[in-house]
Amino acid sequence: MKKKNTYEKVLFIVNNYIVFFALVAFVTTCCMMLFVTILSDTLQLSLTEENINVAAKLTFGNVVLLSFIFTVIDVVRRKLTVERPVKRITDATEKMMQGDFSVRIKPISRFGTDAKFNEIIDCFNKMAEELSGVETLRTDFIANVSHEMKTPLSVMQNFGTLLQDPDLPADKRLEYAKGITDGSRRISDMMTNILKLNRLENQQIYCNATEYNLSEQLCECLLQFENVWEKKGIEIETEIAEDVMITADEELLYLVWNNLLSNAFKFTPEGGTVALSLAADDAYAVIKVKDTGCGMSPEVGAHIFEKFYQGDTSRATQGNGLGLALVKRVIDIMEGEIGVESTPGAGSTFTVKVRRQQGE
Ligand code: ADP
Repeated sequence: MKKKNTYEKVLFIVNNYIVFFALVAFVTTCCMMLFVTILSDTLQLSLTEENINVAAKLTFGNVVLLSFIFTVIDVVRRKLTVERPVKRITDATEKMMQGDFSVRIKPISRFGTDAKFNEIIDCFNKMAEELSGVETLRTDFIANVSHEMKTPLSVMQNFGTLLQDPDLPADKRLEYAKGITDGSRRISDMMTNILKLNRLENQQIYCNATEYNLSEQLCECLLQFENVWEKKGIEIETEIAEDVMITADEELLYLVWNNLLSNAFKFTPEGGTVALSLAADDAYAVIKVKDTGCGMSPEVGAHIFEKFYQGDTSRATQGNGLGLALVKRVIDIMEGEIGVESTPGAGSTFTVKVRRQQGE
């Protein structure tokens, strides 16, 4: 902190000590005058000039002494109960301003101290904790994005170098060019997901609700994966209640179904089954996406909604660990529920429950 200059020091002493001293002196003088006046009136004393001279000198001495004692007591009290806690708080704030979010302030002993300082200290410590959490998230986020970008970039670099060979056969040229296209698509997908997630994280209020047919939306979304299920020979089972209307953000819910189905097809081996169901009552719609894929252990299941988390690293190149984080964020905005039941080697079932009328 900036050191106090001489002018500030003088001003501080005048403000804190001399003004206090003068006030106490004034009050003490008034009290003594009052006392002497009442005493002389009551006892019918007639004071001589000599009496008054002696009394005035003694009174002046007493006033100075008493005011000095009070000022010293006040200085000590102020140092212990005000300046010390304030210094602790300002020192910690300065450390935090320099980027040290691990700083915490020890509560001040309750004895003889204004408890309000401990309230400020509690708030400060909570704020420091929150900020250090945000800082960790930020650094983790940067590390994750850099890591996710490094792999496709180095693959693209290698293909670029190979493509520089003038004698490269046409089929190899095509293969390497495709490698570059795939890598750039991966980066572009990741960027799109990061932007969506960022937008959703800043969005607290749910606003774009329209009434639409949820049954149709689920069927349309499923049909998008026709190529995949045909190629992998995956069997499809559906149990979709007809014409279930919902008032919600169509685009956001599409994101949910698309991610859940894309994972189901990605993690289900050839010849497996993917099932999609929709059931509804007056208030809620319940959607289940079930697959007979690799499933996941409870340890993996506990982290799947975290950003950049990938439980199955063998399929890391087919995703970026952001899909389920997006899904969870959308469901949270809609104040819905999402859960997963999974058995390793047998498959997983994701269940989503959303209100049919948002905002109710
Ligand atoms: P990614 O794009 O890498 O798939 P997600 O956020 O969609 O990222 O999924 C995170 C992790 O959750 C996956 O890496 C995988 O381990 C697990 N997971 C998600 N869906 C399924 C599923 N249907 N079957 C098995 N594991 C799954």
